[in-house]
Amino acid sequence: MGILEGKKALITGIANEKSIAYGIAKAFYREGAELAFTYANEKLKSRVKEIALEFGSELIFECDVSKDQHVKDLAHALSSAWGKLDIFVHSIAFAPREEFKGGVIDTSREGFKIAMDISVYSLIALTRELLPLMEGRNGSIITLTYYGAEKVVPHYNVMGIAKAALESTVRYLAYDIAKYGHRINAISAGPVKTLAAYSITGFHLLMEHTTKVNPFGRAITIEDVGDTAVFLCSDWARAITGEVLHVDNGYHIMGVFGREEDIKKEVFGE
Ligand code: NAP
Repeated sequence: MGILEGKKALITGIANEKSIAYGIAKAFYREGAELAFTYANEKLKSRVKEIALEFGSELIFECDVSKDQHVKDLAHALSSAWGKLDIFVHSIAFAPREEFKGGVIDTSREGFKIAMDISVYSLIALTRELLPLMEGRNGSIITLTYYGAEKVVPHYNVMGIAKAALESTVRYLAYDIAKYGHRINAISAGPVKTLAAYSITGFHLLMEHTTKVNPFGRAITIEDVGDTAVFLCSDWARAITGEVLHVDNGYHIMGVFGREEDIKKEVFGE
């Protein structure tokens, strides 16, 4: 029996099989959860429908999180379909591509607003609307963040600021929803080659560097993130809330970047 048996989970943010949310859906399905999905616009509908079928689900709902009515309609539709909800996965972020080109200093007012709206406010709005469905269920919510919230990552720019706000939002929401018995946590994932990631100028360099210098010397997979999400949304994590859990092969613990053997080779030629 899977550890999410009997739980109903809403997954947002699947664009394709490379999406982090796809890795989470795969792990949830393996562990016995029943799944429902959202898609941002008509263009993605058929792809998300195919993916939902792969996970035994016919429940797909349109939800562009920049639209209040979509968020309300989603909660309404899910209420009619299931009447209850145990898990909500928020795997959504967006900033216009030009915001990743220069530095933070080049951020436009509009780009700032969009990044904060889609990547941060959406978590608040969706949580609020989905809360009634979670009543009495000891619900669990997770969102996805990145190390660029904590430290400067060149070109991550306004998204780093948005992720810092997202992590703070997780803590405030954790306090708000604790009285209903629900939890919310963030997974800070190492770089993964997804559609969203390719908007970031120099992403391939970032990926190469991060992979090389983390203590394990390997890249993060969507399966690594999926398995962590299972744990966080399971009853085993019942006392964990408001947390930012790094799933990055230990990259964030490093002060000097690189493993000793690589530094010796590269710096001292040994
Ligand atoms: P992805 O596959 O491109 O997923 C991003 C999702 O956000 C897409 O499904 C996208 O839909 C959706 N989205 C954008 N604007 C939306 C809107 N207005 N309404 C509803 N959905 C919207 O990329 P991903 O890397 O898996 O990203 C998922 C999350 O992981 C993001 O929060 C990202 O910041 C975070 N993360 C990623 C990495 C990484 O290296 N990839 C590392 C750490 C954290 P469309 O395709 O239609 O725009």
